[in-house]
Parts: sequence; C-alpha cells; structure tokens
Amino acid sequence: MPGFELFGDAERKELNDVLENGVLMRYGFDGMRNGHWKAKELEIEIENRFSVKHAQLTSSGTTALNTALAIMGVGAGDEVIMPCFTFVASFESIIASGASPVLVEIDDTLTMDPKAVEAAITSRTKVVMPVHMCGAMAELDALKEICKKHNLLLLEDACQAFGGSYNGKMLGTIGDAGSFSFDFVKTITCGEGGAVITNNDEYGLHADQYSDHGHDHIGNDRGVESHSYMGTNYRISELHAAVGLGQIKKMDEFINIQRKNHSILKTALSTIPEVSFRRIPDEEGDSCGFLSFFMPTAELSDKVVEAFKEFGIDACWNYFNNNWHYIRKWDHLKEIKSLYPLSDQINKALQNINDQNFPQSDDLISRNISCLIKLSWTEEEVKDRASRMVQAIKSIL
Ligand SMILES: *Cc1c(COP(=O)(O)O)cnc(C)c1O
Repeated sequence: MPGFELFGDAERKELNDVLENGVLMRYGFDGMRNGHWKAKELEIEIENRFSVKHAQLTSSGTTALNTALAIMGVGAGDEVIMPCFTFVASFESIIASGASPVLVEIDDTLTMDPKAVEAAITSRTKVVMPVHMCGAMAELDALKEICKKHNLLLLEDACQAFGGSYNGKMLGTIGDAGSFSFDFVKTITCGEGGAVITNNDEYGLHADQYSDHGHDHIGNDRGVESHSYMGTNYRISELHAAVGLGQIKKMDEFINIQRKNHSILKTALSTIPEVSFRRIPDEEGDSCGFLSFFMPTAELSDKVVEAFKEFGIDACWNYFNNNWHYIRKWDHLKEIKSLYPLSDQINKALQNINDQNFPQSDDLISRNISCLIKLSWTEEEVKDRASRMVQAIKSIL
C-alpha cells in the first residue's frame, strides 16, 4: 500500500516546479508562480479519475473528515454513527465537530454491520460514517438504504481504500461525501494531506471556503475576499500537493500491483482449510491494499502472528492488541481523557461507549490477521513470501 515505496523522478519533478518559483502556498501570488497550481491540478486529477464533481484537498485525512462533517452541517447535539474498528481519527473528527460519536459493531466484512447501524439510530443521528478498512468496502447498498429510510447523510471514510470501487463506482463517491488520506503510509502519499470529495455543489463550495478561513476565493486579492461564515485553516501546501500530483499519475499502476500481489498471497493461503477470508461485498472492487483473513480461534491467530515473525514475514498484524485501530485499547476515549472540557452531551456519549460491549467485533478482530500488500516486492519475493506464510501457518496447526 504505501506509495512512498515508489517515490521517484515524477514526484521530484513536480516538487522542483514549486521550489523553482518558491510559491509554497496554494492560493494567490499569481504573478510569481509561473503557472504552477499543484493543489488545483491535483484536485482536477482526482475529480477526473473518480468521476466526481468536487475534490477539496486538505492538510490531512483527519482534517478532510473535519471538513466533511462541517459541510454536512454536523455540530452540537448531533450523533454520528461510526464502527468500533477504524483509526482514531474517526472519533477525533466527530468530537471536534461538537457532535457525539456512537460506536457500532463490525461484521465479517471488517466494516460496520448494517444491522447494528439501524439499531443505533436515534432522533439525534445525522450521519452514518462507514470506514472502508484495510483496502475494501463496507456494505454500501444496505447502508444507503438505511440512510434513505431514516433521512441520514452517508460519509465514506475511504482513507484506507483509495482506488477501490463498489458495483463500478469509486469508493468515496457513493455517499453524500467521501474522504481520503494522503499521509505517508497511504496508497498515494503527499507526505501529509487529504481530500474531501462530493457530487453535491453546495458541499463542494463550502469545502473550498471552510478549509481556508471562509475565503470566498473570488478575485485575486486575498485581503479583500469576503466571508459568509466562519471557517478554519486546513489548507494543504503546494509542496505536499506536488508530491501527490506525481503520485496520483501512478495510481492505476499501484492498484494493479496491489491486486497482483494480493492474488498470489490469497491463492496460496486458500489451500489451508483453517484459513477463512473477510467477506468483500464486491470482490472486483477490492483495492487490495491488505490481505485480511481469520483463524478459527484467537489463540491460533496469536500463534500465526508469532510464527510469521519466526518465518521472517513482516507487515502482518492482529488488531486486537493494537492501540490505534480498535475500541479495546481506546482507554483515552472510554475514560474521557481530554485536555479541555467537553460538552455534557459528548461526555454522556463517551460514558455510554465505556459501558458498551462489542462481542461480535471482539470475536472477529481477535481472530483476524491483516497483512499489508507492498508495492515494491518483486514477483519472486511475493511467491517466496506466499510459501513462507503457508509454512508458518501449517507449523502451528
Ligand atoms: C489514515 C486514516 C485517517 C486519517 O488520515 P491522516 O491523513 O493520517 O490524518 C482516517 N481514517 C482512516 C481509516 C485512516 O486510515
């Protein structure tokens, strides 16, 4: 998955364009920039490649989520439903918006369980935020149906599934808005960066303004531009956008490599009856950034992780013991460890999370192993890795 593995001349060329004129900011300074608008160009690339009307770059995937929630009008008193298996950015952005996070179980797709979503809806629910974890998609048809029935908005966190699709549509473009991350370990990297995408014209306009202090971006004198509402600064720099522009041109190549490597590993592991794989609602749309599988018990899963180390297999994890991706280790959330006071409503929501159990997710995550698919492996290396993975798993059965 990490695009940094294939950082090269294309990224250096785009960066040099920016360094040569020294305009490191994405807005203004028209005369000095020799026609270079890297952030603008990258947004257009995203709009074209994803067939989406609006792409707004931001400083990170987290600020892309913050922006998405703001343009959807999420704030004090609202509830946002999110899965209990995701990156911490999900609840961070919801809390930053002033809304309350409501956590639900995942199912064997490793993404939010639509039945759990439906059961969690209250009169305060405003947004359902599925996270396409580890490269593949949530049950988007079922989630869309629920949102339609209850008049809710759908925000897709596609930060880990860049380039994946569902029934022929790119992930991130199916909900009311979607978010990407271009941090250093994602499929396409800017170093740091993110994007909000949407087909809603009002959301698109508001994303552009909100992420730059409310600037209306009319005319070419920033000092006299006006503001219709309060915004903030989630701008990406031209330097970061330049790296992303070099990277995104290799997007198809990256996804093809991931799919090829993924297929070799999955075929090898399929020969072991004790191994089962995550359910993928649309196999063809898997971005294949990870290969995720289950062992029959948590004990066997722990043993496989140990055996992988012995057999020299890196980049494979069991998220049950991970501090950043699963509710079990989010003590800071459950114990409401905040540097500043939170609203009564958020405090209550976090107490509810502390009282909640996630037995279905505990079972799945404790038996799961997710392996990163790298871009830089040679075919020989992938084949060798596949046979060592099989040997490692068989050694503990
Ligand atoms: C990486 C990631 C984010 C946040 O992205 P940053 O650019 O690191 O802020 C959000 N959600 C998910 C699922 C992620 O993997």
